[in-house]
Amino acid sequence: MKLVIPLVMCACAAGAAPIRVMLLDGESAGTYHAWRETTPVLKAELEQSGLFQVDVVTAPPASGDFSNFKPDFTKYAVVVSNLDSGTWPADLEASFEQYVKNGGGFVSVHAADNAFPNWTAYNEMIGVGGWRGRRQGAGPHWFYKDGKMEADSSPGMAGSHGQRLPFKITVRDAEHPVTKGLPPVFMHAGDELYANLRGPGMNMDVLGTAYSDPANNGTGKDEPILMALSFGKGRVFHTTMGHDIPALSCVGFIVTLQRGTEWAATGKVTQKVPEDFPTADAVKVRAIAASK
Ligand code: ZN
Repeated sequence: MKLVIPLVMCACAAGAAPIRVMLLDGESAGTYHAWRETTPVLKAELEQSGLFQVDVVTAPPASGDFSNFKPDFTKYAVVVSNLDSGTWPADLEASFEQYVKNGGGFVSVHAADNAFPNWTAYNEMIGVGGWRGRRQGAGPHWFYKDGKMEADSSPGMAGSHGQRLPFKITVRDAEHPVTKGLPPVFMHAGDELYANLRGPGMNMDVLGTAYSDPANNGTGKDEPILMALSFGKGRVFHTTMGHDIPALSCVGFIVTLQRGTEWAATGKVTQKVPEDFPTADAVKVRAIAASK
């Protein structure tokens, strides 16, 4: 009998209901962002945390037929977006806006911050975005200087990056649940270092930045890479990392995705920082088998 009690307690703990995740993907110009390849890797990475049950939902291209695309966002604690899309129908935008405003979680991965340049609420959710015609009207360029974020409203395009080289990420808010316990500086595998993003930057806590090196077509500024935002009652985690499968294989990407998704869904992070997390000097990668 003595064994029964701990076994029952174990079963209860392990039987906690999974967090339901909608992994949203679809349109990207040409094959530059290969979402058909990257989505199964993102799905596997989320599932490996043991916390999430992931459904993939593919949106029609912006020029396509939306008459049968009515996703029920409210069934999910969090929507993780691997979608770079042109404009959505107004009722679909309103449905997503209402979901986040009412407390739904949202995670923007890499080129998801290229999507929807003219959708005001979406740009408030992500804080900053790039490309698809964004210019100064989208908001200032935000960068980190002397211990805080600064805005530069000078005119110009939004969005740039250099070659996909490894770079260092510096944690700027070590008390946030997503970054708490991470090393203060860690290496990221070769990836596009997004720079010159523009946006309203409202309710935006920049958790991590990276130096955009002029020697690699960079701005010479510390650019936001990991962000936590709020929109109404909803929490938003925004990572600009994750161009392709080599970038997604970085343990720093995987762990911040897992932690950021849990935080956006629940407001807490229960995951420990793993032993193989990158250091200030060493990139760490994992081989991830795609999950279909
Ligand atoms: Zn990219």
